[in-house]
Amino acid sequence: MDIYSQILNRYWGFSSFRPLQEEIIRSVAEGRDTLALMPTGGGKSLTFQIPALMSEGICIVVTPLIALMRDQVENLVKRGIKALAVYSGMSRAEIDIALDNCVYGDYKFLYVSPERLGTEIFRERVKKMKVILVAVDEAHCISQWGYDFRPAYLQIVSLRELLPGVPVLALTATATADVVDDIQQKLSFSAPNVIRTSFERKNLHYLVEATEDKHRKLLDIISCIPGSGIVYARSRRKTAELARFLSNNRIRATFYHAGLPSSSRTARQNDWMKGRARVIVATNAFGMGIDKSDVRFVIHFDLTDTLEAYFQEAGRAGRDGKVAFAVLLYDESDSSNAAKRVAMKFPEKQVIKQVYQSLGSYYQIPYGGGKGTILEFNIADFASRYKLNVMTAWYSLKALETEGYIELTDEINSPPKIHFTVSRDELYRFQVANAAFDGFIKLLLRTYSGVFSGFSAIDEDFLARKTRTDRDVVYRYLVRLNNLNIIKYIPQRRSPLLIMNTERLDANSLYISSSDYRIRKERYMSKLMSVVRYASSSGNCRSVMLLDYFDEKDVPRCGNCDVCRKEDSSGVGRVEFDLIRSSIQEIIRHGNYTPDELPAKTDFPPEKTIKVIRWLLDNGQLERGEDGFVRWRE
Ligand code: ADP
Ligand code: MG
Repeated sequence: MDIYSQILNRYWGFSSFRPLQEEIIRSVAEGRDTLALMPTGGGKSLTFQIPALMSEGICIVVTPLIALMRDQVENLVKRGIKALAVYSGMSRAEIDIALDNCVYGDYKFLYVSPERLGTEIFRERVKKMKVILVAVDEAHCISQWGYDFRPAYLQIVSLRELLPGVPVLALTATATADVVDDIQQKLSFSAPNVIRTSFERKNLHYLVEATEDKHRKLLDIISCIPGSGIVYARSRRKTAELARFLSNNRIRATFYHAGLPSSSRTARQNDWMKGRARVIVATNAFGMGIDKSDVRFVIHFDLTDTLEAYFQEAGRAGRDGKVAFAVLLYDESDSSNAAKRVAMKFPEKQVIKQVYQSLGSYYQIPYGGGKGTILEFNIADFASRYKLNVMTAWYSLKALETEGYIELTDEINSPPKIHFTVSRDELYRFQVANAAFDGFIKLLLRTYSGVFSGFSAIDEDFLARKTRTDRDVVYRYLVRLNNLNIIKYIPQRRSPLLIMNTERLDANSLYISSSDYRIRKERYMSKLMSVVRYASSSGNCRSVMLLDYFDEKDVPRCGNCDVCRKEDSSGVGRVEFDLIRSSIQEIIRHGNYTPDELPAKTDFPPEKTIKVIRWLLDNGQLERGEDGFVRWRE
């Protein structure tokens, strides 16, 4: 067994590699900058984890989602591999300790959110680390032409300057040709080097259902496909509504969106993973990092913003390789709604400025101040206070984030903290006067040093055990001490954070580049139109259309999508169709023919050949030149 397989086996217990994993690992191990394109679930993580385990030193992994970062760290730690994470929202002291561990503590993996890369504290420590590899997950985020641009990703290249000679492995599941080029350029690849697997999913049957009654259709489809599935809907409200609709029709369904408390999200996700709910109706917040292989269908109730997103979400079906369905429900109003969506996603600049000002007064940040402040953020509260539409507020903030003014994080779980705000003498007098608290205070002082100089994170379960009570009692003690002004107590929270990257500016100084904003808007529109085209066309194999979008040309018709099935019923079987198609391709490679001359040149029945030629011309695979001859379209 070679060294790669040994590591695969030893740490993960897998017996063989998936397609291209080994090739990517080898490329990285040879020190080459590498861009790997693999569909979701293809096994990208191992391609940086294994090379990092092979040599001495640490691998820095840049990844955008904090929740995912933690999953991966936990996963590695479970296998006895030393890994940790540094992300926005951790306190400076926490970051300090984590980075020290990476310098002195033989850690193998440091997961970091891109926003941290530019900070001085990070850059100073990185210089002292023995970095052997930089992995950039979700690398399409570096491209403004991609569908999920994150400005902080542009800082990765400055990391390269600190780490000359260290190879970079960029990973993504979706990238069109221009994005593939852009990623390599933005990461300063020393030489172009792309390794990609085909995105063809043979077991996935793509269907578009044009219907006047999406509810009815949804029910029909779910009733005839056994097994579990996901239904994606655009709005949070709709996820609840559809789940109720399904439940009323005796289909066990739950729903999921980012507005639910995280305990409830975990519970719902588990219900679905374990089969207690057959269907989960969710917004696009659901799915990343979820590893359920026997999903039999993914149904989209609404159009996605991009085909990249559609492909990712639909691709969650059938990871076990068995037949699965990706269904898109479509009605006439979808294309007119698309236009409204553009307007909502790209608020007028005036609106963005107004939201920015409201943000300043919401947090009472003085002009010229506030840089670097970390704030808890509740969008619903903010929007209602300033009478803003929540969506408008949200997309304005997103625009401000893209411009680098602010940063929004996922929900972050922060531990409870305490700080003694009285002097030791005062505390002593308090203990004497309040004997009931004496034992508890002594326990705090014994367990947590440094509580006089600043906040310390505490473990309420531990305190409960030590005092032989429960968490509720501990909580009440702490609240009492807080109200008596002995300590400052910050209870445990889970909340998204908003970080001010720059000092507060007045409305005139806030700059939003008109041309960039316009280009982004146009890109967004054209991507959305690709989705509308996908949904409304009825002449192209769905799989061919999707793959063509990702610049995979010359792929055979899938034979399984709604279009292919319709072709079949028109009299040309799918195997026959593909045979005729390749025969035509061969013939016109060697000579010039008009469409009328072609049928006689093949060995197939002319009436069928004519049908196939018609279809190929209609669907743009064949074209007729000005000279009248047909040509294969590149
Ligand atoms: P991606 O990042 O490409 O979406 P992941 O790295 O999260 O995919 O891997 C998806 C799943 O496939 C994980 O559960 C992983 O353990 C599993 N996996 C990866 N490589 C292999 C392999 N060679 N053999 C078996 N399972 C694998
Ligand atoms: Mg991944």
